[in-house]
Amino acid sequence: MKNKPAALGIVILLVLSLVPRSANGAPAKPRIAKEKQTVLDWLAKPETVETFGKISDEIWGYAELGLQEFRSSKLLADTLEAAGFKVERGLAGMPTCFVATYGSGKPVIGLLGEFDALPMLSQKGRAAKKDPVVEGAPGHGCGHNAMCTAAAAAAIAVKEAMVAHGLKGTVKVFGSPAEEIVVSRPYMIRAGLFEGVDAVVDNHASQDFSTGYGVDGNALFSTVFTFKGKTSHAAGAPWVGRSALDAVEIMDVAANFLREHLNLASRLHYVILEGGEAPNVVPDRASVWYYVRNTDEGLEDMYQRVVNCAKAGALASGTELASVRVLSAIHQRHANKAAAELFQKNIELVGMPAWSEEEQAFAKALQKELGAKEEGLPAKVSPIEPPRTGRDFVGGGSSDVGDVTLIAPTATIQFPGWVPGAIGHHWSTVAAGYGSTAWKGLNAGAKAIAASAIDLLTKPEELAKLRKEFEEYSKTHPYKPFLPADATPPNDLNKELMDKYRGLLEKALEIK
Ligand SMILES: [Zn+2]
Repeated sequence: MKNKPAALGIVILLVLSLVPRSANGAPAKPRIAKEKQTVLDWLAKPETVETFGKISDEIWGYAELGLQEFRSSKLLADTLEAAGFKVERGLAGMPTCFVATYGSGKPVIGLLGEFDALPMLSQKGRAAKKDPVVEGAPGHGCGHNAMCTAAAAAAIAVKEAMVAHGLKGTVKVFGSPAEEIVVSRPYMIRAGLFEGVDAVVDNHASQDFSTGYGVDGNALFSTVFTFKGKTSHAAGAPWVGRSALDAVEIMDVAANFLREHLNLASRLHYVILEGGEAPNVVPDRASVWYYVRNTDEGLEDMYQRVVNCAKAGALASGTELASVRVLSAIHQRHANKAAAELFQKNIELVGMPAWSEEEQAFAKALQKELGAKEEGLPAKVSPIEPPRTGRDFVGGGSSDVGDVTLIAPTATIQFPGWVPGAIGHHWSTVAAGYGSTAWKGLNAGAKAIAASAIDLLTKPEELAKLRKEFEEYSKTHPYKPFLPADATPPNDLNKELMDKYRGLLEKALEIK
């Protein structure tokens, strides 16, 4: 053991001698294939950064809720069409769903892209204190304004490389509405849109530049329970009435008691959509919207217990459980390790953007306001994230990307731009998702997405690794949708809210 340091020194010298050196003696950069260099160069052009930065900011301003993303979806689809992609719109029963395709034949590489906002989060861009554009209006509190934008930029860069180098294969952008209400992907899969896709590059805005693999997040049932009762004068003859609101409240009480007896991974939350219109009329109609979340294994059992709470509410209040409408139902994410390893190499190749002093100052001001550590924006990309397993797995958020991971090898590139310490689904993330940090972050993301797509198009041995892992995994995890066969997309769910705020937002932000 004594001579270990000397032995280690020899090993280091040997390893160093194997690292390629450039003419001036510095370690040479890894050789980049010409096809990959084309996508990186195209995305590095200042006009490319600006074009897609402006698209991201424009979608941020529209702040359109799920299935109401008419302007956002059109802007992205038009941009891809103008770049030579064949665009199909209004797919899978959703007016704002599109698929943009370039090239032909195998391999087929899919890029996922989201563009919906969240209710109640309106906030001025790059303002470090809560300050809504329009009080109560929606806002981009999850960075989706930058996400389909990054996928579109990456896809067009890949097209440039396909043209320049005569590459074979197909690249597809899946314009996926309503991720925040986890609606689109199970319907898109059911409509056959992903048939023949060999691998999928997903992306999400983040505070890190990172990727990961394994099982993550929760499966989910999104369901609206509607009760029917009888109206009457709430004071004059209450004994005649049967309150549908009572049914909702009894259901909610039962569900809240149920919570105690669920596993650690579970999540259960609801909002009351309809609860009557005046206290002096017994409400004959009420409805409540539930998110029921658990692991893939635990979801259906938990969901049945919540349905039983609804039945109990109806029975106790003497009303009728008139409808149980599943808006969507999705799986956990099962990210492919080989895909994540490939994406990680490209994340490291691209590297963290250089942040300006002004960007760091904004980040620190926001961190101060939130009581978070005043560390500014990160300087380095993150290592690959292994999955949490066993007792470490405590559930969490959900994404309908989960269903995609079960029909094609998929992993997610998380690209930077968010301020560490900013809170998801909160005004602070809306503030951070606008302007130069978002422009740089989505551009870095687009480079990693495009470079990964190029690897999958040009290196059959890399794609084969993803496919082999996926096919092996599918034997124990075959795709069986949770989405009921008769479910239809809730296209009008957010219509009223968007009708209320669209004009106000456009006026406040002077959107033409
Ligand atoms: Zn999101």
